[in-house]
Amino acid sequence: MVKKLQIEIAATAGFCFGVKRAINLANKAPDKYPTLQIRTFGPIIHNPQVVNQLASIGIKQVDNINELVQGVVIIRSHGITKQLAQELAQRPNLTVIDATCPYVRRAQEIVAKMSDAGYQVLILGELDHPEVTGLISYGEPQRTLVISKPDDIPAEFFTKPNSSRIALLAQTTLSQQLYNKIVLSLLTIKGELRCFNTICTATSDRQSEALELAKRCDCMLIIGGRNSANTNRLHELCTERQPASYHIETAEDLKAKWFIGKQTIGISAGASTPKWLIDGVLKSLENL
Ligand code: SF4
Repeated sequence: MVKKLQIEIAATAGFCFGVKRAINLANKAPDKYPTLQIRTFGPIIHNPQVVNQLASIGIKQVDNINELVQGVVIIRSHGITKQLAQELAQRPNLTVIDATCPYVRRAQEIVAKMSDAGYQVLILGELDHPEVTGLISYGEPQRTLVISKPDDIPAEFFTKPNSSRIALLAQTTLSQQLYNKIVLSLLTIKGELRCFNTICTATSDRQSEALELAKRCDCMLIIGGRNSANTNRLHELCTERQPASYHIETAEDLKAKWFIGKQTIGISAGASTPKWLIDGVLKSLENL
């Protein structure tokens, strides 16, 4: 049965530019600082297997800033808050390697600029996601708001005549469709609206390709960390088109029953999924 499976892998599956950059910086750090202890602040990317691999070469994760007194700290690809960045930069015995993705950095700069210009900043994203926590910190607290759906837009934006100046941006890994929906909803506000599409192309390209695959395959596998927002989004989107869509972290999560009666299997992977995990899944599918 399994030998008849046709497998199609999305060309965009796996590491994006920002993740590759962060992992390269981490891999080079031991050569650059051979005598220093190297740590990442939070998980460098949202993939537990990659985090474990780095830990095995001595680059461990810490979550408490008080543990970062000396040595080298690598700032994760999702970025950190402005206050934490300032605090780390002031520690005399600590070297900071900033692996914040340049696209996340751009979104942070937009929040700061629009907030300084007096705009009410709306961040479309997940309140608890580290990238969003970082983005909020760049805005004026009274005028920076996180929303996740059209209903979260404050009603007064639509009723107060010409008093609102709104700047909208999004978490870089959000769904393009949701962003478009929010822009449409905001078009009827009474004041000024500025929209910044900060969803990165790595995210939107993966989403479009995975959706195309989900349309023509009769089963989808999405590989990536369960804590990876962009992997979860891929899974959600694919499930809407193809209910037989499964989110797995590694080949060990595969279940033979998923493929009974199936002929075409589409595979996509989040932006933080390494090639070796994708290869592992392919190998297991061949051996099922
Ligand atoms: S998904 Fe986009 S924003 Fe996030 S790390 Fe990758 S390139 Fe950067």
